[in-house]
Order: sequence, then C-alpha cells, then structure tokens
Amino acid sequence: VLGQPEHSVVTTCAYCGVGCSLKAEMKGSQVVRMMPNKNGEANEGHACVKGRFAWGYATHKDRITKPMIRAKITDPWREVSWDEALTYAASEFRRIQAKHGRDSIGGITSSRCTNEETYLVQKLVRAAFGNNNVDTCARVCHSPTGYGLKTTLGESAGTQTFASVEHADVIMVIGANPTDGHPVFASRLKRRLRQGAKLIVVDPRRIDLVDTPHVKAQYHLPLRPGTNVAIVNALAHVIVTEGLLNEAFIAERCETRAFEQWRAFVALPENAPEATADVTGVPAERVRAAARLYATGGNAAIYYGLGVTEHVQGSTTVIGIANLAMATGNVGREGVGVNPLRGQNNVQGSCDMGSFPHELPGYRHIGDATVRAEFEDAWHVTLQPEPGLRIPNMFDAALDGSFKGLYCQGEDIVQSDPNTQHVSAALSSMECIVVQDIFLNETAKYAHVFLPGSSFLEKDGTFTNAERRISRVRRVMPPLSGYADWEVTQLLSKKLGYEMDYAHPSEIMDEIARLTPTFHGVSFDLIDKLGSIQWPCNEHAPEGTPIMHVDEFVRGKGKFVITQFIASPEKVTRKYPLLLTTGRILSQYNVGAQTRRTDNVRWHDEDRLEIHPDDAAERGIKTGDWAGIESRAGQTVLRALVTERMQPGVVYTTFHFPESGANVITTDNSDWATNCPEYKVTAVQVTPV
Ligand code: SF4
Repeated sequence: VLGQPEHSVVTTCAYCGVGCSLKAEMKGSQVVRMMPNKNGEANEGHACVKGRFAWGYATHKDRITKPMIRAKITDPWREVSWDEALTYAASEFRRIQAKHGRDSIGGITSSRCTNEETYLVQKLVRAAFGNNNVDTCARVCHSPTGYGLKTTLGESAGTQTFASVEHADVIMVIGANPTDGHPVFASRLKRRLRQGAKLIVVDPRRIDLVDTPHVKAQYHLPLRPGTNVAIVNALAHVIVTEGLLNEAFIAERCETRAFEQWRAFVALPENAPEATADVTGVPAERVRAAARLYATGGNAAIYYGLGVTEHVQGSTTVIGIANLAMATGNVGREGVGVNPLRGQNNVQGSCDMGSFPHELPGYRHIGDATVRAEFEDAWHVTLQPEPGLRIPNMFDAALDGSFKGLYCQGEDIVQSDPNTQHVSAALSSMECIVVQDIFLNETAKYAHVFLPGSSFLEKDGTFTNAERRISRVRRVMPPLSGYADWEVTQLLSKKLGYEMDYAHPSEIMDEIARLTPTFHGVSFDLIDKLGSIQWPCNEHAPEGTPIMHVDEFVRGKGKFVITQFIASPEKVTRKYPLLLTTGRILSQYNVGAQTRRTDNVRWHDEDRLEIHPDDAAERGIKTGDWAGIESRAGQTVLRALVTERMQPGVVYTTFHFPESGANVITTDNSDWATNCPEYKVTAVQVTPV
C-alpha cells in the first residue's frame, strides 16, 4: 500500500482510440493510482476500467529489462549488454542484406507506440535499411479507412471531434461496439441518445447499444457477416430513389460526373433492399426505414469500427459510408460526419507518421519525387521510389525465401495477425528477427534478438486519437531497461551506420512538423499550452481543426465512387456451416498482453465462443461447455456462451488470450485495396468436446 499521492503527472491512456487524458498520481517515482483528467477534452473527466485500473502491467514481474540474443530460436536466451545486442542485430541485418539484397529486411511498428517512435522506425527503414519495407499494425485494422476516406473526401482521417456527437440527431453505428471497444465515447453517445437522438445499429450481433436501459436503437440491421457493401448500397438506393438526396450540397460540393455515375449505379434494381434482403438477411422495410431516418432526421453522424474495415471489401464499405454522408449533406459541420473508431490509442498517429510502405509522413506517396526530395534533403539520404512490402507481403516473401530479417517494435504479430500457422511458418523461415517489446510475447518465440521496450509511463511523446487529437504522453518513471523505445531505435540506427541524434522526443516532433504540412506548427510547447491539438494544424489553423471539410473537401470536390458488392470468397459449406466473427470485450485490450497482467482478468479471464441457442442446441452445447471450432485455416477450443446476442448461423469470439488463439481460425483473405485481413468472416464448424 503506497498511501496518499504527493504529486501528479498528466499523460494519455495507452489503450483505445478515445485517447483519454489521465493523471498519474505519484508517490516518489511510483504510481499510486490513475485518475481521469477533468480537463481532458477527449474524455471530459471520465475513464474506463482499462485506463483507470489496468496500468499495473508496467511494473509486472514478467517485464523483460535486459537485452537478450540467441543464434537459433531453439537456443536459450542469453542476457547481454545493450551494446552487444544492438551490434549483433545490426551486423545480422547487414549480413542478410549482403547475402539476399537490400530489400530482404524490413520493419513493423505499432499503434501502441508514440508518434515519435513510429516516425523513427519508418525513418530507420527508409534511411538506414535503404528500402520501404515498413508497415504498421494499422494494416490489420484501419488501413481501409485511410484508403476509403482519402479517395472520397481527400484526407485519411475521421471528420469530427468527439464532442460533435452532442449535436447529432441521428447516429448510425456500423460494425462497432463502443460499449466494449470505446467505453468513454460510448457514454457520451448514450447521453446524447437519452437526450432524444435516434440510433441505427448495423451489426450482426445484438450489441449492447441495441437495447440497454434508457437506450434503444430505432433500427437494428442484423446483417450477415460479409454483406456490408450490399447493405450500404441498399441504404443509398432508398436515398436516391425516394428523393432524399441533398441536391444542393452535392451540386455545390461534389464532382458532378462521379455523382451521376454513382446515382445511376445505386438506383439499379439489384441494389434495392428487396433485392439484397436475401444476401444481407435484413428485411427490406427495415432498411428503407433506416435510410429515411438517416437522410431526413436532422444532423446524421456515422461511427464505424473494425466490423467495417476487416473484410475483403473493407475499403469499399468505407467508400460507401462516405458516399452516404455526401449524398445527404452530412459532412462539414457539428453533429454529422464520418467517424472511424480506432481500436488502439495511436492508430491515427501511426498512419500519419508515414509507416505505410507507400507513404511518407502526412500521407504523401513515396513515388512523388518532389516529396521524396524534401525528405532526402532533411535526412541526407537517397530514398527508394517504389513502395515496399506490406505486412502480409513480408510473410509471403519470407516463405518465398526473399525476406529474411525483421525489426518488430511493440507488435505481437503471431497473436494478432490472421492465420497463425502462416505467420509462424513465415517467421520460422527468417534468419534474424528483432523483437522490441515489454514482455516476451508470442512473436518473441521466433526472435533472435529481444530488445526490452518501455511502457507509456516510461517515456515522453505524443499519441493521436481517433478525432486527430495530438496529446502528450509524459514520462512518470525512468525506463526499466534504461532506454525508452525511441532511444533504442536511434541506437540501432547508429549501429547500422545511419546517425540519428535526437536529445529528446520533442526534437523528433519538431522534425515531423517541419516535414509534414498537416503538422506545421505542432510542438510539445504548443500542445502543453493548449492541452491538446487536432490536426490539421498549420498557418490557416494554428490551433488545430476540430471539424474537417467545412467549406470544401480536402480534395476539393467530394468524390462519389461506385461500390459494387462482391461476396466474400469465404462461404459456408456443409463442412463449415457457421460464420465466425471476432471482436473485443470491455475489460481486455487487443492481444491482452497488458490487461491480462492486471486485475482486469477478474472480469474476463478467457475468450469465449458466443453461439445462438438454436445452433448450440443442435450441437448439444451448453454455456460453460468446451467447444471445438475449426476452419479451413486451423482449429482450437473455446468455452461456449449460449446467447441470443448472436443470430443463428453466426458465432463470435474475442482474441485476447493466446491460449485460445482465435487467429488460428481466421484466414488470410484480405481487403482488395489494402490487404487488411478479413477477420470478420470465417466459415467454421463448432462441435462439442
Ligand atoms: Fe479512455 Fe479508451 Fe483508455 Fe478507456 S481504454 S480510459 S476509453 S482511452
């Protein structure tokens, strides 16, 4: 028992994309408790069970604080000095490049890392490795958001501030479960619903928002997994054919020819709710009623999550959602917009920082010689003009024998990426894997070098939340390993012969601001002065931009794009007659590496298989029974939870526990535009054990 705190430090929650401002209350250099910051704009003085209570992992006994190396993954780990570990990692990377070519190594960064750390990883890969083989875990969650929103609206980010929901009259939640995934925003949303706003939920499950005390959705569209595009097209069909378009907005703000083509497409009979009902499973009249409400109910806002993006048509659905907002004039003011709910704290930031293989910071294409020249001047290197490998391509290249070395910071790809067997086989075929993490995670089983990482309490930096809000992460205790993550990347770069010389993360942000138009003027001093700041921040908006696309879209005219529905290749069969979809639960976070090492396991200590009573009865399965689950990718065992939350024919599980290994089941189908995996649609069979 540490007793009463003596002082406090304001920092930012390291979990979900709400990005709550927290106060670490300290006694000496020890955290006594974590309290929500009353002045935090993203959270208005609230925090959830994760941010408030699940920070103890930072000093958990499982923390690895010494660098380790081993020649083969079957060898035991050997603790070594930082110098020996980094020298070994650098020499292995250079050896591999000499033998297999410049492009035979790459790096993966994480949305759990700060902006400054992510920026340094992509700089290390582009400048020191000399290729563009860098990717982020956003590849497997919101990469379709970047593609879809940039294509239609012109910027790879959500349009609104969270506070905007307080001006919404109609709220459509598609493929998201804010109560579990984004609890503090869910409270704000429910408050608006209690004040009278109307709710449309589009989700295969009967999620909490559909029917909880004081909150009831006007319309729940319980679609079959994999039919998002069909239902979005059906909503658009009603808006177009029933005369519900905002013609004045479209005429003033959108490209005419693209709009006319889109209008003709969605008006086709094949897109009518009556025609798509067999595919989506949603009665036509309910789709019609929801479309009328969205188009005519006043300010209408769409919030969406991974139930939209993690599909073979993830990018198409994001585009379809943007089409709906433009068609009804619901962009560019309070209470409306297109709002991706990001799963991890810094998904937005890791994308902003240029950690996709084709984009430099600020979403500028690596193939643009002018942009490349700016970075070449600043970094004193020659950059390669061709985009590098995405994460799934790295695995494929590893199995082909052309990709042999990986630097993986803050991301447990073995547990989080789909088709675990494929990932494991790829990693097993590499010659040097360097894992930088706070725990010996599942990926570390395949690593040759382990570099101890630092938790959010041990470093300075910034996170950018789902509303583009850049907030400070402040160090409240020294790094247990001696170095913060950004320092480790810098030291590795030096060993590779490419000097980085930052004395503090604020200097990294200064460089980001110099090189990234949407960050011009951003500095730690400015964030400290304002509390937080929403990008774009520049000479036109020196204190940031709460709402985007106000007078015109970032791309100029908004662009409607045709969204043809194409069914997922993942089909139910006699062998695999059910569809599995995956998600999260309130008390656990992502792969659970942090929350599983806290008291949050009291609320949820295993992944469970949710199954409809009819499907359970057919198989003789009761709540609490073990059930085998098998797909064409693999099989595992989960404890069953029989619930009417599920629709018949669809089962669900979370992916927080490595013991159950939900991603042993998921396949490597992925989004056509971005390779975001289709976690949400897997044909499976469930049997009693
Ligand atoms: Fe806020 Fe999300 Fe952290 Fe909960 S997990 S405290 S909602 S940022």
